[in-house]
Amino acid sequence: MSRIVYVNGDYLPEEDAKISIFDRGFLMADGVYEVTSVLGGKLIDFDGHAARLARSLAELDMAQPISHEDLLAAHRELVARNDIEEGLVYLQITRGNPGDRDFAFPDPETTPGTVVMFTQSKPGLAASPAAKTGIRVISIPDQRWARRDIKTVQLLYPSMGKMAALAARADDAWFIEDGMVTEGTSNNAYIVKGGKIITRERSSDILHGITRAAVLRYAAEAQMEIEERSFTLAEAQAADEAFVTSATAFVMPVVEIDGAKVGTGTPGPVAARLREIYLEESLKTAI
Ligand code: PLP
Repeated sequence: MSRIVYVNGDYLPEEDAKISIFDRGFLMADGVYEVTSVLGGKLIDFDGHAARLARSLAELDMAQPISHEDLLAAHRELVARNDIEEGLVYLQITRGNPGDRDFAFPDPETTPGTVVMFTQSKPGLAASPAAKTGIRVISIPDQRWARRDIKTVQLLYPSMGKMAALAARADDAWFIEDGMVTEGTSNNAYIVKGGKIITRERSSDILHGITRAAVLRYAAEAQMEIEERSFTLAEAQAADEAFVTSATAFVMPVVEIDGAKVGTGTPGPVAARLREIYLEESLKTAI
């Protein structure tokens, strides 16, 4: 049975879902996206993702083509129709199809945005074996554009980073700019030193992770010490622990950076505890 996907208000088998070759998402990467995880058939932190979506659209002067209520209803409908227990809902909104290629933005009155959503089933997402072993990362220069706080579909450089990691037999890459770690290819980066959780402060240099916000909130509630500041690669390699967060990785320990073991080279207690708290707490508010 094929997946049922969403295109501009219609629910269709994936093989029948089509968008124009003139869509600006396809021609110009003129689009934004969100990934919301699904656990126990429910959406994790949907409101956070919807709020960031609204911000991404506003920053790019793009109209919001679908209301919050309709967005939530469509997410739920796709989860139900595709019988998703654990996995994710991918949502993309582009500046639409103006009927030809042109650098200038089309008039939103005559060119509505394109809205596409689909699910990915990922059984065992929460019980991921990688969380038990941790992942290994390499470092590469951060050569992305300067508005990383907007969640655009321009993912070519992060894809190149992932390929560089795979070529080096690692799992992922951390980006470095001016000697400091910005973030991972598709996640926010953290270190732990002397019990303190250190992660880069929010700015246009990084994506403001929805999981980051939740994890820092839960960590503060658990009286853990947090410092939001940049850190160097050397500092990360000398840390007691390192980890990353994202909507689908949750909290994932990092045990090696550029071949150097972090701490004992095994997942540390802070990352393990934060993963536990995150999964527990976010399930309570899942919708
Ligand atoms: N940073 C980057 C560059 C990302 O692509 C992502 C997620 O895709 C994140 C951080 C983590 O964000 P979130 O926790 O909202 O998934």
